[in-house]
Amino acid sequence: MSRPVDFARLKEDIQKTLFDYVAADTVTDSEHEHKVGAFFEQRIGSLPYFKEHPEYWGMYPIPNDYRGRHVCWSMVKGKGNRTVVLIHHYDVVPVEDFKTLKEYAFKPVELKEKLEEIAETLPEDACKDLKDGGWFFGRGVCDMKGGGSIQYSLLTQYSEDPDFEGNVIVIGVPDEENLSAGMRGAILLLNELKDKYGLEYEFMFNSEPHQRKDFSKAVFSCGSIGKLMPFVYIRGFLAHVGKSFEGINPVGIMGDVVSGLELNMDLADAYAGECAPGPTWLYLKDSKISYDVSMPLNMYGCLSVLTLIQSPQELLSKVKVVCEDAFDKAIARAQRSYEIFLKNTGREPEQLPWKTNVKTFGDLYRQISAQDASFEADYKAFDAGLQEQFLAGKLSIIDYNYKLLDFMMDRRAGSEPTIVYGLVPPYYPAVSNFEYEKQGGIAAGLVDTLTKFSVEQFGLDYEKEYFYTGISDLSYAQMKDAKDVRAALEDSTPLFGGVYDVPLEAIEAISMPVMNIGPWGKDFHKMTERVLIEDELVRTPAILHKAICEVLK
Ligand SMILES: [Zn+2]
Repeated sequence: MSRPVDFARLKEDIQKTLFDYVAADTVTDSEHEHKVGAFFEQRIGSLPYFKEHPEYWGMYPIPNDYRGRHVCWSMVKGKGNRTVVLIHHYDVVPVEDFKTLKEYAFKPVELKEKLEEIAETLPEDACKDLKDGGWFFGRGVCDMKGGGSIQYSLLTQYSEDPDFEGNVIVIGVPDEENLSAGMRGAILLLNELKDKYGLEYEFMFNSEPHQRKDFSKAVFSCGSIGKLMPFVYIRGFLAHVGKSFEGINPVGIMGDVVSGLELNMDLADAYAGECAPGPTWLYLKDSKISYDVSMPLNMYGCLSVLTLIQSPQELLSKVKVVCEDAFDKAIARAQRSYEIFLKNTGREPEQLPWKTNVKTFGDLYRQISAQDASFEADYKAFDAGLQEQFLAGKLSIIDYNYKLLDFMMDRRAGSEPTIVYGLVPPYYPAVSNFEYEKQGGIAAGLVDTLTKFSVEQFGLDYEKEYFYTGISDLSYAQMKDAKDVRAALEDSTPLFGGVYDVPLEAIEAISMPVMNIGPWGKDFHKMTERVLIEDELVRTPAILHKAICEVLK
């Protein structure tokens, strides 16, 4: 790059940008997210370069977004096609836990004074950092308007260089703290820009804050952990509790499904010394709404599985095995108990009628469609009604999924006990630079180069991890075999393609190596959220600039 950055000016500019950005209280999944517009238009629209080039920035409407939100994008279009994408999210989590200090949550200077008044009540490490004075406090300073401000300030200086080599795009998205509608929309925008300007995407950098295990070492993440949410729906066979052998209780089957999947490390993959934490249940309930002396008809639940390398297809096949095993066990248990019951009442042994029956959502849908010509139209109409309730905020995504399954089970011919399994949104693909490193491109040596730079410049050492464990929008930067993944999701995810979509093919078309380079932050989502000032204003911007130069050189 022909022109070095003026770091003294950069430092001032980042601080001003950060305080302005934080002041726009863009709380996630609320009307407040729209407040980003005024900030963005002022911050980018006032720069001479973007006044001169209104075609290089804008507010991109997210397709089919129920809140009508936008992706804020801005591009310095220099020489050539090589392009770096910088992403950050502009939404922040709510401020309920600030209690009496809510009105200061978005004012770092006043908040610091107020926190000092109650310093003794804060956790020890937060109290120490507050007294030390080296940290900015406030909602969003760390997660992640800190990183966003660094990106805007670097872009500002690049925009002043008439001989800039390469292209840099800054993308600010909403909804990261919720379902990542922003990033899923931004992928479509990146495809449009690629086609329009012939861009070649070389690298995507996110600037989420990093957390340190060892306080003396910072962290580069060369990928991001994935997340999938399998659901299990069980339709039992209802009986009066006094006739328990006449039915099969879905609670009993679900008990084995729950213990078979909870913290099951077969579902938690490991790679290169990193391992996903064990899966855990998020939600479990039966279909009873009042007391009576029958068994519940249904059980339903879902669990969160974090992934490193396994595909949705692989995970689903593991869930299927656990469901079949649980069903087998429940039938065997019922049979053993029934035989004791018969013996104790002086009768001959008899076989219970139950058979293990485990299906995907797709299997069930096809089965009912084949039995009932009007099913598909009825299903669509029922779905449309639920969609309306969901979009009005009256139905959670979990309950929406449950009601669809329940509708289907009521429509099928026959009443054999059945387990239906599949996935509930959201879906965050696991991404990492393994493949890119193997190919020996820029991703292969970048971490070493940046670590050496940081040690020499700042005496700050970095460690490398492959997976950012906080779940991030980088998940939507890489995809392979989009066609197979789509087929698996369509077969297993009732809500896929309706209220929730992932543009898998569009991701595959722009796939690029990724890295998270962000400032050190602590206590994300808490009242004591804070970012290290030295990282925020000095070290992280210099390292990110170095990374961009390395990629574009
Ligand atoms: Zn974040």
